[in-house]
Amino acid sequence: MYKLSAVTKNYAKGRETVAALRGVDLVIEDGEWLAIQGPTGHGKSTLLQILGGLDRPSGGIVDFDGRDLAQLREAEVTRVRAASVGFVFQTFNLIPTLSAQENVEAALVPLHVSAAARQQRAAVALETVGLGDRLRHVPGELSGGQQQRVAIARALVKEPKVLLADEPTGNLDEDTRDEIIGLLEVMWRERGLTMVLVTHDSTVARRAQRIGVMKNGRLTFRKAARAQAARTQAAGAQDAPVQAALSPLSPRSSSSASSGLQPPDLPAAKESSVDSVRADE
Ligand code: ADP
Ligand code: MG
Repeated sequence: MYKLSAVTKNYAKGRETVAALRGVDLVIEDGEWLAIQGPTGHGKSTLLQILGGLDRPSGGIVDFDGRDLAQLREAEVTRVRAASVGFVFQTFNLIPTLSAQENVEAALVPLHVSAAARQQRAAVALETVGLGDRLRHVPGELSGGQQQRVAIARALVKEPKVLLADEPTGNLDEDTRDEIIGLLEVMWRERGLTMVLVTHDSTVARRAQRIGVMKNGRLTFRKAARAQAARTQAAGAQDAPVQAALSPLSPRSSSSASSGLQPPDLPAAKESSVDSVRADE
């Protein structure tokens, strides 16, 4: 899905230059779930923005399905982003004056989907994340966890290949965090998504298949994560209603089930030095 070579990003800050990325090499396979941990200010969000075509690198190659996002014209990057990449942010980034339904529909506007189809698809997406009874609520009338569900529906309504999530549980309490990660996990598995999740929370990171650590603009990898224990937990009560709601609605569920996208059941990873990365909040 992605192949990054020697990616750098410099920001001008007054007279100085901040080197946010100092040569990142990274291959992300189709259907992989990658977590990225690391302290604040070390380039995690910068990397995610470059993966999503929200920003361009200063140097290097960002190959996305055979096209270099660093070289594409702006209009083409915008098209790739609108069609293929879903974003979820720590602060949800919903439009406060729009209803849940309208927020989700907004993702389909650049794709020239008809109004009727937009409405229908947004309603289905909101049902899928368990908010079928909240279509007309504005963000201020929803809890943090519900707002993040709306944001997930907005990210997924266009059926992207990639979901990029930047501290998606950073503003949520632990129970809600677990619900949201459970939901993301179901979506990832059912839809064959490629998922990159930035988090400072080791509990969250360990649910991924692989953990990268970002430090001083460089990315390194530790041992394989995704302990069986975490999977068993994830398949528990929290996910069951979502799973049930999903099956008849997810067009890709049958194909992804047979496409080998499910991770191997890895043995529980040894406590790795990833955990020694301090939580940054
Ligand atoms: P993280 O997500 O790991 O906290 P960021 O990728 O947001 O880190 O930032 C990495 C570095 O780049 C920081 O030093 C930050 O101050 C700097 N930076 C990020 N965005 C900008 C920007 N738009 N302009 C200038 N400096 C920036
Ligand atoms: Mg960040």
